[in-house]
Amino acid sequence: MKKIILLLSILCITVVSNAQDIKTICNTINNLNTAILNGSIKRRDAANQFKTLIKQLKKAADKSQSSGWVFPLKGYKSNAIGGTNGNGYSDKGYNFLDGNKHTAHPAHDIFINDHNQDCLDDRTHQPVDVLVVDNGIVIACTNEWDPVSSLRGGKFIWVYHPAQNIFTYYAHNQAIFVKPGDEVKQGQKIAEVGRTGYNAYKKRSPTHLHFSAFRLVDDMPVPYNSYLQLKKAKNI
Ligand SMILES: [Zn+2]
Repeated sequence: MKKIILLLSILCITVVSNAQDIKTICNTINNLNTAILNGSIKRRDAANQFKTLIKQLKKAADKSQSSGWVFPLKGYKSNAIGGTNGNGYSDKGYNFLDGNKHTAHPAHDIFINDHNQDCLDDRTHQPVDVLVVDNGIVIACTNEWDPVSSLRGGKFIWVYHPAQNIFTYYAHNQAIFVKPGDEVKQGQKIAEVGRTGYNAYKKRSPTHLHFSAFRLVDDMPVPYNSYLQLKKAKNI
């Protein structure tokens, strides 16, 4: 009996310390991401720190698989993706370490019906839910944004997906409902679509979710075109 209690408590402590490890690692990645965005860290230092942290997270993370994605906007399908056959995506010249000064558009903009730009769906008069495409861990996000800010992502969320070793990124949200270290399940509501971000806030920009996917190449995020995955995604 004593042995069983001892084993159970070891198991409990392991689970708790693993969750704390994940929280600590993700909070550190979040701070690093802020420094990269602001350009307040040297590129080489940023790269080294990022690689170390992501290796630690990979080791600590649960790698449960799911097949395919859930479309990131509730009530919408791939025909809401901007451009023709996903040609709004362009990653030429993009570098994660450029932070807020990055070039290109390694993303798909997914537009909602919001003619009067009040961030409510014109059909339902409700906010549109942003859903996480697959199981993962929130590694960085911000729930603060000021219209005078020059930051382009506005209220954004980065999620790491350990099973596929990829990241997804959700920008311009009106509100976010997660924090660094949160483990999220496929299809979970993580945010509501908004107009936050330097360009997204401007009148000329129709209300949309800016969605990106990144592969880890040499433990650094490199964008890839996820159009086919979005097209095949389950619609909720
Ligand atoms: Zn965009």
